Amino acid sequence: MKKGPEDPTDLVARARAGEARAVARLVSMVEDGSPQLREVMAALVPHAGHAHVVGITGSPGVGKSTTTNALVTELRKPRRRVGVLAVDPSSPFSGGALLGDRVRMQDHATDPGVYIRSMASRGHLGGLSWTTPQALRVLDAAGCDVVVVETVGVGQSEVEIAGLADTTVVLMAPGAGDGIQAAKAGILEIGDVYAVNKADRDGAEQVRRELRSAIALGDRPEGAWKPPVVMTVAQSGRGLDELARELDRHRAWLEETGELLRRRTRRAREEIEAIAVAALRTRWEDVSSHDGLDALAEAVVAGAKDPYAAADELVATAGS
Ligand code: GDP
Repeated sequence: MKKGPEDPTDLVARARAGEARAVARLVSMVEDGSPQLREVMAALVPHAGHAHVVGITGSPGVGKSTTTNALVTELRKPRRRVGVLAVDPSSPFSGGALLGDRVRMQDHATDPGVYIRSMASRGHLGGLSWTTPQALRVLDAAGCDVVVVETVGVGQSEVEIAGLADTTVVLMAPGAGDGIQAAKAGILEIGDVYAVNKADRDGAEQVRRELRSAIALGDRPEGAWKPPVVMTVAQSGRGLDELARELDRHRAWLEETGELLRRRTRRAREEIEAIAVAALRTRWEDVSSHDGLDALAEAVVAGAKDPYAAADELVATAGS
């Protein structure tokens, strides 16, 4: 095995010792789909599982990045170690996103207890379903108590983020027609905690009322979690203490009910599937570019073979 600064076991040890550069390098390896990822994940897995993964989602402009920034400030009061993963599903490049790290989270840029990373995921096989859980694992194993995943840009990613998090926070704000549109977008199904941000603006109270009645209408079995609605002004940090308390309360509920394990198992399943499908696709590309396919096609055209039998033969080759 290769030794030195790029040795995966060594990198993982340094990340766990709190070396920010090693953490950054590991996330880059995830982003680039490094051939060493297999070793990296094997070294990380025994150390993962401690962090509370919190997803922050909502329409563009609602205040996700401002809220993330303010939430980190709140979580740092009791000196919790925090990771922030800003996922940009609409951008194939991380260059711009990396610049974004510095601009967006200036308050925490020099705090050694905070890791901030942006990650582009378009253009990767498996997209969010693969790269994000792996990057989360890096931050988790590096000793973060909480990892906040935030989507940047516009995309179909709201629901995907919800699938990746232990706790999903849905942000709303007055003036965006959010209350009514939310029900249509299915966002009422994904929130564990709702925050009505921009509570300093007119109409916030109405958004809260609409949300509360929509939540009350939902069918919920006995003992199920009832999503709370918190009012926040992310710019000034107002209400962030309550948001942090609700996150802790939800985490405790997840543990007590076994839901945490269920969510994490579902997440691992999706990750395994994404890796397996990518492996099958690679194998498939080898097979479909093989001369064998031409020979089978000729046999079908000549009436010597039916297309199902030909496909069976091809699949058998791919499986071997
Ligand atoms: P994102 O697109 O969801 O990440 O939203 P941003 O965090 O970039 O915020 C969008 C705009 O809303 C920015 O101009 C923020 O300064 C502003 N903003 C964020 N939170 C608040 C708030 O609580 N009150 C008010 N009035 N403006 C806010």
